[in-house]
Amino acid sequence: MNGDFTFTIIKPRAVAKGYIGPILNKIQEAGFGISSLKMIQLARPEAEAFYAVHKERPFYQSLVDFMVSGPIVVAVVQKENAVENYRKLIGATNPAEAEEGTIRKLYAESIEANAVHGSDSDENAAIEASFFFPSKDRF
Ligand code: ADP
Ligand code: MG
Repeated sequence: MNGDFTFTIIKPRAVAKGYIGPILNKIQEAGFGISSLKMIQLARPEAEAFYAVHKERPFYQSLVDFMVSGPIVVAVVQKENAVENYRKLIGATNPAEAEEGTIRKLYAESIEANAVHGSDSDENAAIEASFFFPSKDRF
């Protein structure tokens, strides 16, 4: 059975442009519950650790610079088959390729500043949720 939660981030440009409310609205309209939520500023070592899986990719330093450039909102959201349903809701990594109506199509600026993060597996959802909400033992 697929898991019922996933982890998301509203990234710095989307926060700066005033899209926290509209994005949370889209998430809830799509039938997700919000079970944990906070606004934070990432320190560079935290951003580096969070994106460590991408450290060999050419955009890694730029991505880390971007993710520490301003406050972000981190959240755990719940729905059946959450990882897959949430990735559908946010759309393709590159907003130019994202379907109409998806969060990235509506609110992303570029492939890097693409408005939101969504976990890519149940295993990573649990790791990422625990990274930002370490005091919780279940979501
Ligand atoms: P996703 O967020 O859709 O799972 P990835 O895990 O491949 O995508 O990449 C992580 C993040 O790195 C993306 O959300 C985006 O912010 C950034 N990124 C991905 N590909 C590029 C790229 N070609 N150039 C710049 N930034 C990128
Ligand atoms: Mg990813």
